[in-house]
Amino acid sequence: MITDNFKKNFGDINFFGKQLRIALRNCGMINPEDIYDYIYNACGYEALAKALSDMKPSEIVEEIKKSGLRGRGGAGFPTGLKWEFTAKEQNFEKYVVCNADEGDPGAFMDRSVIEGDPHSVIEGMLIGGYAVGASKGIIYIRAEYPLAVERLYKAFAAARKEGFLGENILGSKFNFDIEIRLGAGAFVCGEETALINSIEGKRGMPRPRPPFPAANGVFGKPTLVNNVETWANIAAIIIEGYQWFSNIGTEKSKGTKVFALAGKIKNTGLVEVPMGTTLREIVYGIGGGIPNGKKFKSVQTGGPSGGCLTEKFLDTKIDYESLAAAGSIMGSGGMIIIDEDSCMVNLAKYFIEFTQSESCGKCVPCREGTKRMLEILERITSGEGREGDIEKLERLGNVIKQASLCGLGQSAPNPVLSTIKNFRNEYEEHIKLKKCRANACEKLVNYYVTDKCVGCGACKRVCPAGAIEGSLKAKHKVDLARCIKCGRCYKTCKFGAVKKDSGILEIMQ
Ligand code: SF4
Ligand code: SF4
Ligand code: SF4
Repeated sequence: MITDNFKKNFGDINFFGKQLRIALRNCGMINPEDIYDYIYNACGYEALAKALSDMKPSEIVEEIKKSGLRGRGGAGFPTGLKWEFTAKEQNFEKYVVCNADEGDPGAFMDRSVIEGDPHSVIEGMLIGGYAVGASKGIIYIRAEYPLAVERLYKAFAAARKEGFLGENILGSKFNFDIEIRLGAGAFVCGEETALINSIEGKRGMPRPRPPFPAANGVFGKPTLVNNVETWANIAAIIIEGYQWFSNIGTEKSKGTKVFALAGKIKNTGLVEVPMGTTLREIVYGIGGGIPNGKKFKSVQTGGPSGGCLTEKFLDTKIDYESLAAAGSIMGSGGMIIIDEDSCMVNLAKYFIEFTQSESCGKCVPCREGTKRMLEILERITSGEGREGDIEKLERLGNVIKQASLCGLGQSAPNPVLSTIKNFRNEYEEHIKLKKCRANACEKLVNYYVTDKCVGCGACKRVCPAGAIEGSLKAKHKVDLARCIKCGRCYKTCKFGAVKKDSGILEIMQ
């Protein structure tokens, strides 16, 4: 079995033993710069040989359709159908594109696959090219991934030398080669029509669909676009067969999914699990739970446009439909764990700030709407929130979701809407009581000195605003009117005498 190698080597470690690695099967197992390691120790290019010698292009499309594989880039569109649409187009020139424009903050699934196993992506693209009748491949990858790019170039050279890329591949009539296009780091270029514009040298802006890339893609030619993780699954499906793959996962979401587990969790890193695994299993079984004895507060799935789910959703099974029903998305696989020390309003502000700055500006709902949402959230987190702000955020969020042109705008309000739904009381506290229960919203926090103070004067010396008064050996005091809330006194006091709190409660110093 193609996935056994990994289990044999790492299966006794809890973090890895509970995973099922298909896309990541060779990462860390083979030397990514040695094509022979891929060929001899990872069944490398066996699937390509099988496809070219034993299967017609239409049979490969059928195999992928029956496997139930869905696009791992976020939308979850059935991969086999996409292949079928491109294959049906009558055109002597077609393109196969690998979307490696990984833009979610903190996500590194695609980078790891390419850095750790570049040939599996190349092999997947070769099989895809043969199945849809394309002879040109393009990998669109972020320029911020220099090691991945270097390894791809090395892999191309080795594959060409061994006759896997170029003309008459493995003695067949199939010709295929791949080139690289570097992206400049715009999040929106992960959207396939923006990516195609960028490949053509145009500004990376989405366009309305239809026409879909399958009919009208790179330079107007039929184009098959899949992301790195999707391509990395292809060779495994061809070798092991569609039944094997479709037996993994849930009824509608087959196979595995890679997540970048991050945030307030003991074990961070890439996690590949069968679809249908519960969030609880990932957080506690694989991730080891929350560090420092803190309480779990929320899990955000789907990257900057995902939703924040509460503890009651921990038994949700991970698949496209269940996550959507819970109010989040699968996205490309970002998973951030949030503990009791995080402010959900502040977190929502962070994500909308990200999507707002990445909006390409083409359509008004996304361009202007996200800006207005950000303004309201800035107001709320700085203690200027007004009655009606929550309702305004909800109204704006729903309009932006419905009226935006592409996925970026359609999903940008998710973190705000889901935190309002699941943590409305935190929004209300910020607005009505000027209170941030996590003491994370700087402008709402007040610093004060307690009776533990021994009058050492250290806080007074580091205060940049001259806001601390007090004589040596006497209790000190913070002048709230002068304090600029930098927190230096809090970090400096060795006696734990400086405390912080928020809210309109009277503070006794
Ligand atoms: S939704 Fe946003 S990112 Fe997408 S086209 Fe409109 S402005 Fe651009
Ligand atoms: S550093 Fe702490 S103990 Fe020293 S004066 Fe400031 S509050 Fe008091
Ligand atoms: S928070 Fe900063 S400005 Fe305020 S009292 Fe402490 S050190 Fe001074």
